[in-house]
Amino acid sequence: MSSSANDNGQDAQQQLELTGRPCPICRKPGVLHYKPFCSRRCADVDLGRWLVGAYAVPVAPEETDDDEVDGDSRES
Ligand SMILES: [Zn+2]
Repeated sequence: MSSSANDNGQDAQQQLELTGRPCPICRKPGVLHYKPFCSRRCADVDLGRWLVGAYAVPVAPEETDDDEVDGDSRES
């Protein structure tokens, strides 16, 4: 990791550690505390999208382990 003097001395300017990745919402540098977002605001935005998506997309069972049906119906 090549960066400026960040862990040298006690600047204590901001206790916000960057994730090194841009915020997926606003493209600002992501903050570790709100990873991968830059702020709680963006995290909330993403959360909102998640909830909307959760409501929009019906939950479908994906992991169907009992896929082998030999014509022997267990549960009708
Ligand atoms: Zn952001």
